[in-house]
Amino acid sequence: MTREISHFIGGKLVAGRSGRKAAVYNPATGEAAAEVALASVAEVREASAAAKAAAPGWAATTPLRRARILNKFLHILEERTDELAAVITAEHGKVLSDAKGEIQRGMEVVEFATSAPQLLKGEVTENVGTRVDSHSLRQPLGVVAGITPFNFPAMVPMWMFPVALACGNCFILKPSERDPSASLLLAQWLKEAGLPDGVFNVVHGDKEAVDAILTDPDISAVSFVGSTPIARYIYETASHNGKRCQALGGAKNHMIVMPDADIDQAVDALMGAAYGSAGERCMAISVAVPIGEATAEALLAKLEPRVRALKIGPGTDPEAEMGPLVTKQHLDKVRGYIDTGVAEGARLVVDGRGFSMQGYENGYYLGGTIFDHVTTDMTIYKEEIFGPVLAVARAPDYATAARMINEHEFGNGTAIFTRDGDAAREFAHQIQVGMVGINVPIPVPMAFHSFGGWKASLFGDHHMHGPEGVRFYTKLKTITSRWPTGIRAGADFVMPTMK
Ligand code: NAD
Repeated sequence: MTREISHFIGGKLVAGRSGRKAAVYNPATGEAAAEVALASVAEVREASAAAKAAAPGWAATTPLRRARILNKFLHILEERTDELAAVITAEHGKVLSDAKGEIQRGMEVVEFATSAPQLLKGEVTENVGTRVDSHSLRQPLGVVAGITPFNFPAMVPMWMFPVALACGNCFILKPSERDPSASLLLAQWLKEAGLPDGVFNVVHGDKEAVDAILTDPDISAVSFVGSTPIARYIYETASHNGKRCQALGGAKNHMIVMPDADIDQAVDALMGAAYGSAGERCMAISVAVPIGEATAEALLAKLEPRVRALKIGPGTDPEAEMGPLVTKQHLDKVRGYIDTGVAEGARLVVDGRGFSMQGYENGYYLGGTIFDHVTTDMTIYKEEIFGPVLAVARAPDYATAARMINEHEFGNGTAIFTRDGDAAREFAHQIQVGMVGINVPIPVPMAFHSFGGWKASLFGDHHMHGPEGVRFYTKLKTITSRWPTGIRAGADFVMPTMK
């Protein structure tokens, strides 16, 4: 019998009732491993009603008590990292060490959220006017939702809910229907840590469930991470329905390699950043921009043999550096981009299309791929491929490379490899991208900073986690108080000014 992946509503697993389901595959073998229930509008309403019922109690729970629950959750995550990593690898395909890495980065946000009492401290000014004081505080929004992508089934939800819960909100998670099981472990472990029923809920689903979230009158805010067309739709629809929204979209991250860079270091960086997690990372480097022909030749001479030697295998193989892609459809899409690159005249230096994994012929594997002489008018330059395909776009000088990045639709992450502090500073100062690395290929901010891109990589004005996360999940209230004698002296009809 096929295993069915249920929702988690009001503190318990709830089987889907919509009659609609989607198959969940093991990308390493191509076998259908389970079926996930796809929620109807009524099932989303059930989750939001459970969250709404739990909201007053959770908001009234002191930040210190909330933090203690998150602390227990953190310990559970530490103890059961292997169990969660195995579930991620089985549905996503990434290698186990990489799955553990994403759990670690998620745990750091939980760790950040355990300082809830500190994070929620307000501001006070004594004597804003004579014998008048002002203080501001941040209060929870109520019920908030998170809609997440397939590529980090544990970390991206953990960018959101630890901070939302720490701030006193109830949360509804709608994870990717392609790898939904990790979210249920998180829900069960939160409950085990002492989280009251209804405070954290999971509804699985597709557009129908998402649209139900976007129009639900009891949901105050929506956090989204996924592709740009959907991010734009989520932002517009949530805003139209009066909800606060942060919607993170796709990416095309460039790495400039300056002539003075350490080429070995740059090649090592590119290998991990372009091919780690089979390129299915929003912070993956998908365009390398060597400055000058000599830099390009030196870079490619070292990169090509490394890409040919990539160890590809099922995520459970400890020797594998890169696993399969997430689904057959995604594999076909990425292969299609390689066909397009060839048709558009880019030079295919390493072709991953011929790769087949012995013993796993039905898995969704693709070899590492490099294109050289990619130009800015090509589809493979303009669009996000989200696979193990690196485009090398040569530039004659730094100014041309910086202009390419600044004119690109996306602005998630970028990096420069150089020994020149002046060039690095100029790059950091003027580049139109939200997250910048200097000799760091994947500059993902730590949990106590905030994560987010610019341009078509983020809709809304708050980045995720860190201080921006706290602001997103709270409303500011400012109280001005006076306890003087003579307060009943009579009405004052002019604009209040402090005396
Ligand atoms: P996706 O946009 O297909 O799906 C994301 C979520 O939206 C899923 O929960 C999905 O069920 C839902 N969804 C899909 N189609 C929908 C529709 N038509 N209407 C409403 N909801 C819909 O993204 P994905 O393929 O799961 O993830 C990969 C994408 O996510 C890439 O573009 C990647 O760059 C991006 N991403 C961005 C960041 C970031 O921080 N900017 C981080 C991770 C992933």
